[in-house]
Amino acid sequence: MTVRTRIAPSPTGDPHVGTAYIALFNLCFARQHGGEFILRIEDTDRVRSTPESEQMILDSLRWLGLNWDEGPDVGGPHGPYRQSERGAIYAEHAQRLIDAGHAFRCYRTSDELDVLREARKAEGLHLALKPADLALDADEQARREREEMPFVVRMNVPATGTCVVEDLLRGTIEVDWAQVDAQILLKSDGMPTYHLANVVDDHLMGISHVLRGEEWINSAPKHQLLYEYFGWDMPVLCHMPLLRNPDKSKLSKRKNPTSINYYRKMGFLPQAVTNYLGRMGWSMPDEREKFSLEDMMASFDVQRVSLGGPVFDLEKLTWLNGVYLREDLDDRAFLKALMDWAFNEDYVAQILPQVRTRVDTLSDVAPLAAHFFSGLPVLHEESFADVKLEREELIKLLQFLVWRFEAVAAWNKEALLAEVKALGEHFDLKMKAFLAPVFIAITGSASSTSVMDAMAILGSDVTRARLRHAVEVLGGVSKKQAKRFEKEYREL
Ligand code: GLU
Repeated sequence: MTVRTRIAPSPTGDPHVGTAYIALFNLCFARQHGGEFILRIEDTDRVRSTPESEQMILDSLRWLGLNWDEGPDVGGPHGPYRQSERGAIYAEHAQRLIDAGHAFRCYRTSDELDVLREARKAEGLHLALKPADLALDADEQARREREEMPFVVRMNVPATGTCVVEDLLRGTIEVDWAQVDAQILLKSDGMPTYHLANVVDDHLMGISHVLRGEEWINSAPKHQLLYEYFGWDMPVLCHMPLLRNPDKSKLSKRKNPTSINYYRKMGFLPQAVTNYLGRMGWSMPDEREKFSLEDMMASFDVQRVSLGGPVFDLEKLTWLNGVYLREDLDDRAFLKALMDWAFNEDYVAQILPQVRTRVDTLSDVAPLAAHFFSGLPVLHEESFADVKLEREELIKLLQFLVWRFEAVAAWNKEALLAEVKALGEHFDLKMKAFLAPVFIAITGSASSTSVMDAMAILGSDVTRARLRHAVEVLGGVSKKQAKRFEKEYREL
């Protein structure tokens, strides 16, 4: 048997470090067995998936050196590798399940589902809805079919008993069937859900081992049952431990930068990031901290993965990056790294229009443009001394802007301007007054190039990190304040 693994990202946002971590382990597992590593785009959520996100994910994984053998951009014998292009395959497979009595058309309306769930809650029962709960009487079912009312396709699941799933790292996992609902397989628009598409594709693409995050454990019983219904062998499952913040909570962008774009823009080296991700729950047999991707592939053993939640610690990553920069790169390689990072024509060309109207000599450029070539600016409370806002109001303004910016999908000047205007009105501040503290947070000084352009050029991750940094410098947000802020923000 050829070992085939895959990474199956959903292109619904920034390229997440968690995706890179899972990709890395799948890649190493495949290589260690002389196998293949596939990239599949799971874009069945048509509302949230974007081509920009897909492109960023591919670019980021490539930047990290995590190359795949088959995928939407490189092709391969099992394509298409984008689920949105495989609709007919899922419809046919759903029909197969219906014909065999393993799935059914469910005409329940969302109001009816709410009532059913409420009733179960009132009785103190599990919220999982079973085929029997969802069944309509025969006449009503026939009427809704005749009238071509919208329906979904759901899978049959046992009402009682225990489902036993094997996991490569965790051994036997038992899940009570009572907790598992009659999962939707095809939505009313005919698109598959993750569960159907994922199982069908893993089978058709010959995937032998599924290494994925532990948040998918609860899906495993449904997947196993689908494999049984289709009469297929199931790939070996291996649920990897989730990355954690230093306080052990699940890694989240509220507490840690989670986008690979952030690390790239802040001047981390791809080999250091990949090395650090390799240390997440795993170690080399000789325990050394610094190793290359090739070293990791050569020494990989999945049994060395430990399940205690690995902590993604920015300080340790920064330390490791420094070791690479100081010890690993010769002058040539250092120069190349600098050029790849920001000292290249593309990037400098974006900066030029910002500085050229403000300089008399070329030597004025570097000091004026310094904020385009740095990480977090050096700020003190006094940096904001001239801003005419109460401290709490000031912190709130910056925090609200971070939250608004988190939700911006297409990062460009117009989109940012719309956010700034909306918040300016909320705070009852003229544009200039609203932007004064933002200016300081982003450029590190009270006079510099246009802050709106700077944010557009620096990108979402660095912009948000600098705003968050300013909030911290001003004393941060207490738990109490956070509650108040969140309430006010929700009502905005
Ligand atoms: N599309 C899922 C994700 O975004 C894939 C989960 C899996 O690997 O099965 O993580």
